[in-house]
Amino acid sequence: MTTDPVAALVDVAVPSVDRAWTAEAVRRIRADQTRSADTHLVKLAMPPGWQVDLYVKDESTHPTGSLKHRLARSLFLHALCTGWIGPDTTVIEASSGSTAVSEAYFAQMIGVRFVAVMARSTSAAKIALIEREGGVCHLVDDPSTVYDVARQLAERSGGFYLDQFTFAERATDWRGNNNIAESIFDQMAAEPHPVPSWVVVGAGTGGTSATIGRFTRYRGVDTRVCVVDPERSVFLPSYSGRPAPTELGSRIEGIGRPRVEPSFLPSVVDRMLGVPDAASAAAMGFLAERLGRRMGPSTGTSFYGALRLACEMRAQDRAGSIVLLGCDPADRYRDSFGDQEWLIAHDLDPRPYRALVEQAWESGQWPG
Ligand SMILES: *Cc1c(COP(=O)(O)O)cnc(C)c1O
Repeated sequence: MTTDPVAALVDVAVPSVDRAWTAEAVRRIRADQTRSADTHLVKLAMPPGWQVDLYVKDESTHPTGSLKHRLARSLFLHALCTGWIGPDTTVIEASSGSTAVSEAYFAQMIGVRFVAVMARSTSAAKIALIEREGGVCHLVDDPSTVYDVARQLAERSGGFYLDQFTFAERATDWRGNNNIAESIFDQMAAEPHPVPSWVVVGAGTGGTSATIGRFTRYRGVDTRVCVVDPERSVFLPSYSGRPAPTELGSRIEGIGRPRVEPSFLPSVVDRMLGVPDAASAAAMGFLAERLGRRMGPSTGTSFYGALRLACEMRAQDRAGSIVLLGCDPADRYRDSFGDQEWLIAHDLDPRPYRALVEQAWESGQWPG
């Protein structure tokens, strides 16, 4: 059998999203980045006697007020450049709030509709922020259904489910491109201990710890990643090979999940610390006084873990530096973690932990 060489070439073109539209959408998002300054790496003034320096990477100063600004930008660029979003696509996300605020901002910027699927318990303030950015909130009674509802809405409407919990770890350029890890290491360059012994962060999607953990290996630096985990989260139990304890959601917004998210990569996490929620509240209050910036509860969780690690280094007579992530501002929690009465009413009395934090801070020794 002979083959016609001309007819043997198979030529198929599937219409893709209008390239000029994609180019303009990408340009708008990159222009937003170009207009933005980097976030501050703030050094904490320590009492005398410490050879360990603590730094807070303050992610609250992004245009949409949290580290989710970076994630939302990465998710949109990833989806646009993969051809998943076009001018008529409704973008849908499952979120506990902050991601949706940032994604609504970028959706409006490129002129596509945005729907956030969230638990009915989401604070009115968060809902107002999303709506201010032109987003629509779709509230569900059972928080564990947000993923399925988002996927179904996308299927039914021909929309696109952005899926932060799957794509966070791969939408970010972990080798560089001014990702959060590169930014931290660049900003540490002129410090006495420019290579931090630890970077401390919580995990929501797990994307931030994945980026930092991969980056430290790529650069070959001797920095370890410690993930702090709140109560009611499955990350720490799964990391230590124990069964997951809970169906209840985490009370520390942004971190701690009821399921092990695909973007959480335990292989790049060197250590995990489980932090009681009342300790996060105490640490949040203490840090606000020392830092002169009021950060949210997940930053309190990270500060509590960082202080513990700092005491450990001091006990070993090691000098060095520790960087913790400041993820969002306290003003989003005025009626919850920022309110002493609310804390007591929710069985989160911070006072015993406040005493512990003060003692550790002044003495350099972790009690017990
Ligand atoms: C998302 C979030 C985190 C954790 O970041 P991930 O990269 O999703 O693991 C921490 N704190 C707050 C307030 C967040 O919104």
